[in-house]
Amino acid sequence: MTDAAIVGTGPNGLAAAVTLARAGLDVVLYEKADTVGGGLRTVALFDSEVRHDVCSAVHPMAVASPFFRAFDLASRGVNLLQPDIPYAHPLAGGHAVAAWRDITRTAAHLGVDGPRWERLMGPLVARSRSVVDLLLSDLRSVPRDPVAAAWLASRVLAHATPRSPFVTPEARALLTGVAAHAVGKLPSLASAAVAMLLAHTAHSTGWPLPEGGSDRIAAALADDITAHGGVLHTGHHVRDLAELGDVPLVLLDVGPKEFLALAGHRLPARYRRALRRYRYGPGAAKADFLVSGPVPWASPLVGRAGTVHVGGSHADIARQESGVAQGKPGSAPFLLVVDPAVTDPSRAVDGRRPVWAYAHVPHGDTRDPVELIRRRVEEYAPGFTDTILASHGRPAAGFEAYNPNYVGGDIAAGALTVRQSLLRPTARWDPYTTPLPGVYLCSAATPPGPSVHGMCGHLAALSALRRHHGIRETPDLSPRPVRAFP
Ligand SMILES: Cc1cc2nc3c(=O)[nH]c(=O)nc-3n(C[C@H](O)[C@H](O)[C@H](O)COP(=O)(O)OP(=O)(O)OC[C@H]3O[C@@H](n4cnc5c(N)ncnc54)[C@H](O)[C@@H]3O)c2cc1C
Repeated sequence: MTDAAIVGTGPNGLAAAVTLARAGLDVVLYEKADTVGGGLRTVALFDSEVRHDVCSAVHPMAVASPFFRAFDLASRGVNLLQPDIPYAHPLAGGHAVAAWRDITRTAAHLGVDGPRWERLMGPLVARSRSVVDLLLSDLRSVPRDPVAAAWLASRVLAHATPRSPFVTPEARALLTGVAAHAVGKLPSLASAAVAMLLAHTAHSTGWPLPEGGSDRIAAALADDITAHGGVLHTGHHVRDLAELGDVPLVLLDVGPKEFLALAGHRLPARYRRALRRYRYGPGAAKADFLVSGPVPWASPLVGRAGTVHVGGSHADIARQESGVAQGKPGSAPFLLVVDPAVTDPSRAVDGRRPVWAYAHVPHGDTRDPVELIRRRVEEYAPGFTDTILASHGRPAAGFEAYNPNYVGGDIAAGALTVRQSLLRPTARWDPYTTPLPGVYLCSAATPPGPSVHGMCGHLAALSALRRHHGIRETPDLSPRPVRAFP
């Protein structure tokens, strides 16, 4: 008999299934797409063996999060490759600034802001595990390390106002590029929290890329599920909860909009209204390029980085991001660019390689991003256009058809405001429960929110185990011999 059905196999659906299967439950997963993984898919997009990460490419949280620390990707053969320069930021005139794994080396290039960078990041790096555990929690539990919580809070407050403690354009741009991962108005409390989380992990656990592509992470999770008796059904778009039959537990790796489609008629009117009030944020528009060589960044420093933030100065990025949040389509958006073969040479095949890039654009923007992104990269990497062999664009408006969780291209599955980070998706003490008995939400639309950390799924599964099976202990997630089947 099936103990639990999971709808959606993004990192959170898979993490939920791993946690339940490891507790001894029989789990069945349903996935709309033909392959598992959600935001963890890697495919050959062109007439080439080169594989492209469709969504996520870089994985700071897949080494740092409590779920993945216990799951231990490295021992399962997922080789997490660490660039020496986790991220870099090209500036005008061929200049650039970079964050090295080594905090001292980073500070050495920041002039008078060098000691400030070390004072800002140093204490977070020293207590990195506590900082990560705090920000990747259900955001309700009492912090286990009050000192780390105090360090973090003071920094978030200091960087949530327009008066940056930094004075050099380099340090200001470097931190703003990380804050912009929050996709929305800058600065804000939410963007400052995202900046502290991501920027300090560059100096602690790093920003790795899985050798071969992001789908290696999905494969490791799926292997663990099947090794523990779980069953995966792909190509199955669940359209009504009734399809799942009489299963005692249901975990939904979906956002509020899809939940309303699946179960709206059964939900109490008040809860339905609360789900309808959930706000989706600005969009991402993605371009994938097949190219004939490394991105010819004007600054060689940028060419060594795992991730590149393209947006210009601190003021430029703040203007672009605030405009996007107000629905204004600019012609020079903030970009994240990754040339995976810089960190993982196996990604280049016969002299060809993938380039991954997305632009921050207004919610539901319909523009094909290929030209927008090509021109923007060319500004900082003259000659990039000549290396392009093929390209593929996905406008923000096209993301939802690919994955119902990315409404209007919102890859964070909901606007990242402080209120909505805490009350995700609605105001409930246990954010994973719903008014339907046995039905839980476990996607990035629940705390702690977006990124590949598996914590929404893991925490939702722990809540379900506690409430329905009285299991209070976290199951052992480490690689170990699988249970023997007769
Ligand atoms: C372009 C892009 C770049 C990104 N870059 C990064 C990055 O570099 N690093 C990082 O950490 N994060 C990145 N992210 C974010 C990250 O991918 C997401 O936060 C993460 O995948 C969310 O996981 P999830 O399990 O909640 O949902 P998803 O990964 O979105 O998975 C949800 C799954 O559920 C399926 N589904 C939904 N409804 C149904 C249904 N009714 N029936 C059956 N199946 C259904 C969907 O098809 C999908 O497979 C990126 C996202 C995008 C789109």
